[in-house]
Amino acid sequence: MKQQPLVSLKDIKKHFPVGSGLFGKKNHFVKAVDGVSLDIYPGETVGLVGESGCGKSTTGRMVVGLSDPTGGEIYFEGKKLNEYKAKKSLGKNLQMIFQDPYSSLNPRMTVADIIAEPLVLHKVGTASERRKRVDELLERVGLASYHGNRYPIEFSGGQRQRLGIARALALQPKLIVCDEPVSALDVSIQAQILNLLKEIQNDMGLSYLFIAHGIQAVKHISDKIAVMYLGKIIEFANKEELFENPRHPYTKALLSAVPHPDPKMRNRERIILTGDLPSPANPPAGCSFHTRCPVAMEQCKRIDPNLLPTSKQSLTACLLFEDKVAN
Ligand code: SF4
Repeated sequence: MKQQPLVSLKDIKKHFPVGSGLFGKKNHFVKAVDGVSLDIYPGETVGLVGESGCGKSTTGRMVVGLSDPTGGEIYFEGKKLNEYKAKKSLGKNLQMIFQDPYSSLNPRMTVADIIAEPLVLHKVGTASERRKRVDELLERVGLASYHGNRYPIEFSGGQRQRLGIARALALQPKLIVCDEPVSALDVSIQAQILNLLKEIQNDMGLSYLFIAHGIQAVKHISDKIAVMYLGKIIEFANKEELFENPRHPYTKALLSAVPHPDPKMRNRERIILTGDLPSPANPPAGCSFHTRCPVAMEQCKRIDPNLLPTSKQSLTACLLFEDKVAN
């Protein structure tokens, strides 16, 4: 029997109205997310990568219910997300950790109170049971029980991210959206946090949607990777296939900037993208990547490619592949 996805995004959109026309009518929309479909299965990590402003964080916020889509549907265990919200049980299953843990940790609360807060909000346990759970969580993320009496300002950046993870784990969620959780940390600390997330996943069997700016940042932790450009997924594949055989010209450009461990591959051509990411308020017609694509064709200015299977393990949105659709 086919496994049911834990979370399923079906053509989700987030269009923000901007500007006013006659009689105060909103006449223009920023299409921050514009038709994203994606499945995340139990126990797996999907990496979501793309440049700043491509819509990846907005997607993450919708997945945990912090923001509602303006179109499409999100399903959790086969049920629409908004039906879970009505039951206030969503937060138990879907959590988020952020790039800047300090801004998400109340500086006036002790660490113990911060980590216990989700338990209090969901009326889980007595005060002493919650303190016991806080101690367990501190230990799980590599900190000690006595850290619970301190304040966030007393911790380093890496330790604060550990606190953010402990808080996210308090209710034993099934999925955590990790929004660039290591991008503000030193490289050695990044590895420690990624290893910790991996260990926790192995122990608890939870799923991650791991958002990052650079494709290399998601390599270590992801099973599958989705590449976003201007609010859309332009390539989705399992990690090995994406790194060994990228198909979309944008993915190829991102990967060409990543140092390769194989010395024979180190002299491969670096693809430099010219021009800035266009504004999602005024995206190019046709393929939205055509203004920067090194292999753009005339029809790319007119035709918006669909995200279609290019193998059993990959989907690509590029006209170069529309006549090579996998069976
Ligand atoms: Fe480049 Fe055209 Fe493919 Fe878009 S559809 S990625 S512009 S070749």
